[in-house]
Amino acid sequence: MASIKGSADVVIVGGGVIGLTIARALALRGVRDVCLVERGRLGTEASWAAAGMLLPQVEADAADEFFNLACQSRDLYPAFAAALREETGIDVELDTTGTLYLALTEHDHEEIEKRYEWQAQAGFAVERLSGAEARELEPCISEATLGALRFPKDIQVENRRLLSALANSVTKLGVDIATQTIVDSVTIEGNRVNGVQTSRGAISCPTVVIAAGTWSSFIKNAPAPTIEPIRGQMICLEAKPQLTRHVIYSPRGYIVPRQDGRLLAGSTSEHAGFAKCVTAGGIAGILRNALEISPAITGLPLVDTWAGLRPRAADGLPVIGPCGEIDGLFCATGHYRNGILLAPLTGELISKAIVSSQDD
Ligand SMILES: Cc1cc2nc3c(=O)[nH]c(=O)nc-3n(C[C@H](O)[C@H](O)[C@H](O)COP(=O)(O)OP(=O)(O)OC[C@H]3O[C@@H](n4cnc5c(N)ncnc54)[C@H](O)[C@@H]3O)c2cc1C
Repeated sequence: MASIKGSADVVIVGGGVIGLTIARALALRGVRDVCLVERGRLGTEASWAAAGMLLPQVEADAADEFFNLACQSRDLYPAFAAALREETGIDVELDTTGTLYLALTEHDHEEIEKRYEWQAQAGFAVERLSGAEARELEPCISEATLGALRFPKDIQVENRRLLSALANSVTKLGVDIATQTIVDSVTIEGNRVNGVQTSRGAISCPTVVIAAGTWSSFIKNAPAPTIEPIRGQMICLEAKPQLTRHVIYSPRGYIVPRQDGRLLAGSTSEHAGFAKCVTAGGIAGILRNALEISPAITGLPLVDTWAGLRPRAADGLPVIGPCGEIDGLFCATGHYRNGILLAPLTGELISKAIVSSQDD
């Protein structure tokens, strides 16, 4: 393997959706010498395992700071997808049909009523449907549906195509990409970062971004917060013709239609360490919840299963910004269940912070 380049203006640790989006945003802001270091292959961890849903409103019970950021990031998607298509020719299949949230029990119904009330009063786009109206819209859903909310602005993207487009874009923009390369530590002098030590040698640089997902706390000398892995399992059915147009969500699970006839169903949320496997119990639970949403999936072929590790900080919120008190060190991790959704905004926030710190 060729030796690694010895210096850069910015090193990004991790080539998932977060690291790739930051690399692209920096290159677009004119930062010339960006180096992205990835332990394995680009975009093959949590970002690949995700369902690609961009749903800030569906589960929100208040307009807190996180909700506002998540809506802001979702609303960047149409321009983000269009720009990626322009740069790379890759269509990331941003599907703007919207999301249905079903109430399948009396308790679900009480919950969706509350959600409707606050979001409608606050002026967010949400429609209240009876069970019959929801079934008219999506005939595949359960006859037990008591009511539903439709969120026309909560949409989905094909996250694997997004990763391909981002990888293609950063290559075209001249980002230096080192795959199969592990960052072991950051090197710090006084109160400043001055490089990273990797499995293929040192890279000296004044700025480092830790975007290593659920492995972010393992990089030595970097005071990154503790990030724990939360396993999520997924299944993929084949639906040709497609069964639904909307993403369909319930308090217990979801189904997500893809343009090519795949129908994804998820997910689990498990403390299982770094064991990235699917389990009998996990798959059984996902199928039970998907069948509750749509008994019509019973006869569909089950074509794939997989699992990924969501990066979660102690409070469940993303960690985006300067890292510890070390000049030049930034963190972009802990995106937990929302890394695909939050990627465009994270790219903007981190690239802006880096460029303004370099101007100081
Ligand atoms: C089943 C499932 C469903 C999900 N659904 C959604 C969804 O619908 N919508 C949504 O917004 N989010 C969803 N998520 C969450 C989303 O996938 C994550 O929040 C997001 O992918 C995190 O991106 P990341 O780039 O931080 O992490 P990752 O994609 O895990 O990337 C981190 C990268 O860092 C690399 N790395 C680690 N350590 C080092 C090192 N020392 N040196 C070099 N490289 C290193 C890893 O190899 C990896 O490629 C889902 C997740 C799962 C598991």
